[in-house]
Amino acid sequence: MNNTKTEENVIDYFEKLFPLSSPFVRGIGDDCAVIPKDNGDAYVITTDALVENVHFIKEQISPFDLGYKLVAVNVSDVAAMGCLPRYCFLTLALGKNEAWSWIQQLAAGVKQGCARYGIELLGGDTNGSKGALFLNLTLVGEGKWDKIKYRHSAKAGDIIAVTGFLGDSYGGLRILQEQLPKNTLSEKLLRSHFCPEPSVEKGVWLASCLGVNAMMDLSDGIHTDLGRMVKKSQCGASVETSLLPISQELATLSLNNHWDARQMALTGGEDYCLMVTIAPDCFEQIQRSFYETFKEPLYPIGQITDKRLEVTYLAQGLPASYQLSPFNHFI
Ligand code: ADP
Ligand code: MG
Repeated sequence: MNNTKTEENVIDYFEKLFPLSSPFVRGIGDDCAVIPKDNGDAYVITTDALVENVHFIKEQISPFDLGYKLVAVNVSDVAAMGCLPRYCFLTLALGKNEAWSWIQQLAAGVKQGCARYGIELLGGDTNGSKGALFLNLTLVGEGKWDKIKYRHSAKAGDIIAVTGFLGDSYGGLRILQEQLPKNTLSEKLLRSHFCPEPSVEKGVWLASCLGVNAMMDLSDGIHTDLGRMVKKSQCGASVETSLLPISQELATLSLNNHWDARQMALTGGEDYCLMVTIAPDCFEQIQRSFYETFKEPLYPIGQITDKRLEVTYLAQGLPASYQLSPFNHFI
């Protein structure tokens, strides 16, 4: 048992302490829990919080964007299972400084997020906080039991692919941290940071494809999230970093500000696109129909290997090293 206080170890500890009582229910360890219904459908359930000074600085984000983002980050976990979001519950811990208009704007953002993704707010809990603001959403989605995709089913030889640009949201965060000037380039990254667009349609579509073996959303960066996937699937992975999809905006701002765009794409969180692993003989066909359906590419970035828990990074086929220390909530 590893007693270092990291998010990973805390979750592992709870997972071992609460073994599942039924093989049909899925619990701790994936993007959502899964509860089957008796007609071949299933509920998927996720809960994610945004905490002041951990996930956001109150002065930097509008209450509207904060409310919208709270919905979007949870929707992304439902999309990652290949399901549709349906019902949610909202928990707030508010301090004495939040004006009534701030709360109204937050509610408007939550409402917009719910309307955008077809979600009904069914309840929640409202509290005071003597410290940081705390916002949590619990989201219930629905899908076909036998179509749901998990993190634990990646297979050696699978092609690893992602559905969107990596590192843009982290670029937005760095613009805020480094107080860089606002222009059309930086605005695009700031929008990715404040207003993520989870991939519900793509998730449902990919889940329906024969040959898609595993799926998860990217909330903590490829390095951390691929690490989670290979751990659950008891395999390894090799990533060709020259294939990482990097937007023109991030590439240009990286040049101008001496950022390492590939390192940002590997470690930056909050991309909220999807990562899938696809059987190699199905990949080309799925990639082609993905493009025909969404008019956007599905980007291959590497391959699943049988080297248990080993993730290697290559640049044009040669071993490459990056600064890859994952985010730790407790430091
Ligand atoms: P994601 O990044 O996809 O939102 P998390 O990293 O938040 O997922 O959580 C990973 C898994 O661990 C999920 O199944 C989640 O429900 C579970 N989990 C996280 N924290 C706890 C906790 N304190 N108790 C029980 N389960 C937890
Ligand atoms: Mg997730």
